[in-house]
Amino acid sequence: EDTTYRVTARVLPNLRVVVLAFQDVSHLEQAGQMRRDFVANVSHELRTPLTALMGFIETLRGPAREDAAARDRFLDIMQGEAGRMNRLVGDLLSLSRVEGDQRVRPRKSVNLSDVVSSVARTLAPLAKDTSVVLDCDLPDHPVGLIGDADQLMQVVTNLVENAIKYGASGGRVIIKLTEVARDLSLRAPGVYISVTDFGPGIDPVHLPRLTERFYRADSHRSRALGGTGLGLAIVKHIINRHRGRLRIESELGQGATFTVVLPLDLNTV
Ligand code: ADP
Repeated sequence: EDTTYRVTARVLPNLRVVVLAFQDVSHLEQAGQMRRDFVANVSHELRTPLTALMGFIETLRGPAREDAAARDRFLDIMQGEAGRMNRLVGDLLSLSRVEGDQRVRPRKSVNLSDVVSSVARTLAPLAKDTSVVLDCDLPDHPVGLIGDADQLMQVVTNLVENAIKYGASGGRVIIKLTEVARDLSLRAPGVYISVTDFGPGIDPVHLPRLTERFYRADSHRSRALGGTGLGLAIVKHIINRHRGRLRIESELGQGATFTVVLPLDLNTV
């Protein structure tokens, strides 16, 4: 790997010596490159719907002026493209907000059972539209945690939305909440929220990069379904802030399970 050094030279006047200091600044270079890539990606993602919008405006002013049916069709498409831009800007704002929060520990007590059932309620219409059966598997006692309720709600929402979007139409999506106490040694202690679908799954080669901004396993499908490519990046940042982990298990043709593991330690912060 290349290493970039910042070299500082100091001349010591009396001794007639030059002192050279080498400082490894590769990480700064890398951060700069990542920032440039991000800006390039955002510009590209915004320009695509914008170009479509401009094209349709042109057509509406010209050839489609007198054609009512074409006008309606084009307006529908334009609304879709504007919606895509709106989602992208919304996700960019969420991402920048959660990135800014990284150093501040969440401190409110959250009822995770309520979070999960409220997400299931909110997404029931979307599930119905795609004929997906949404199952909620909650323990019989409420599961609590110290955290940020809105952000945890966003995590579960993004995972369940993906499961509904990418899962098999007519299939099932299961949201399961479990609490593993410290004295049960089979699994690491913590709160587990898993979201399982039975769709086409993800080729394991993509799994390590799936939470990167704008990384898509199936770019065509993501765009066709209106995805911004930022959902899992937002999820990762929120989980990091809660000192948790995200586990993704999937194989092609086998559906996918995304599991959020939140440490019990947060309960005693
Ligand atoms: P997007 O807006 O594209 O859905 P995400 O960050 O939410 O962006 O997800 C990144 C990529 O991970 C998606 O483009 C898709 O290829 C893949 N993915 C996420 N969840 C699933 C799932 N449940 N089944 C199959 N692929 C998925």
